[in-house]
Amino acid sequence: MIPMLDLKRELAIIGDEIEEAVKNSIKGTRFILGPNVESFEKEVAEYLGVKYAVGVGSGTEALHLALRALGVKEGDEVITVPFTFIATAEAILYCNARPVFVDVEEDSMNIDVSQIEAKITPKTKVIIPVHLFGNPANLDEVIAIAKKYNIKVLDDCAQCFGAEYKGNKIGSICDVSAFSFFPSKNLGCYGDGGLITTNNEEIYKKVKALRNHGSFTRYYHEMLGFNSRLDDIQAAILRVKLKYIDKFNEDRIRIAKLYREKLSDVVKIQSENKDGLHVYHQFTIVSEKRDIIQKRLQENEIASAIYYPIPVHLQKSFSNFGYKKGDFSVSETLAEKVLSLPINPFLEDEEIEIISSIIKDAVNE
Ligand SMILES: *Cc1c(COP(=O)(O)O)cnc(C)c1O
Repeated sequence: MIPMLDLKRELAIIGDEIEEAVKNSIKGTRFILGPNVESFEKEVAEYLGVKYAVGVGSGTEALHLALRALGVKEGDEVITVPFTFIATAEAILYCNARPVFVDVEEDSMNIDVSQIEAKITPKTKVIIPVHLFGNPANLDEVIAIAKKYNIKVLDDCAQCFGAEYKGNKIGSICDVSAFSFFPSKNLGCYGDGGLITTNNEEIYKKVKALRNHGSFTRYYHEMLGFNSRLDDIQAAILRVKLKYIDKFNEDRIRIAKLYREKLSDVVKIQSENKDGLHVYHQFTIVSEKRDIIQKRLQENEIASAIYYPIPVHLQKSFSNFGYKKGDFSVSETLAEKVLSLPINPFLEDEEIEIISSIIKDAVNE
């Protein structure tokens, strides 16, 4: 059996260190906003090359609180893509704002910048590009449009910890950035966790208050806030895993290269941003024969996954916005043809060989 992600193989390498870190956090007994959270925020900000980092309860909450810190409220519009995990768009709804979708590019699977301007209205407050599967979006172009219309940019970095764009780490470039530490992400904890990063002091102060009941000073509540904090045990785990992230991302990149060598004549593969570093949260192929490929893999006990089978604009929970089939044809076509293959730092060359040859056979059937 080859799973998508093998956290047991990861434990074999870092398990002892993790256990020690968790034990120390427990012995410290400061479970909420404790010392590991503070240290992790410093260490991760330094790693990303950004001024401020704030640990929050999840990636979804990172997006939500970041939008609130940018002042998004009822009646506002927020632009994002329909080909993403639902949380990107849910965060917009949490602020009672309207999600306005822009289709993605077929090759990069990221926001099609050429379509953004047509969607901007006086109500547009924020653009949320997503670095899908670890592939950096074209941030310079998005930021240039945002500046022209005095709009803010929040990037969804949930899938791209460690990725780079024009030599800078993603998470240090936009007005504010949101990360997830869901266990399967490139940098994942052992539960739920998230992070907001920014170089803007005002945004930093706001999200710090928003994650903690809207309070700057204990028991004085300046705004409606939330209970959304990264906990100390998760932060302790993340401090250990942060030391390994470059090595693990390098392994992902090496594996993606191997896959690409074996499969580029057989199926389409998500392109890499030439101005960036793709960190391969997922390795995603595109094929008319997606379903037969998946079936053959399954018969050989090899996992694969469809991210995402239904674009956000066609989800039931978004039905009252009036979007319909045909509105975003690239996203809809991708949803029918994409397949993500097992990729993780511990996948062996032999396994890549097996997976690739099954795919080849399936396509040539
Ligand atoms: C995982 C993910 C999120 C949400 O993160 P959680 O920590 O699970 O809340 C948001 N956006 C994208 C693109 C994701 O992949």
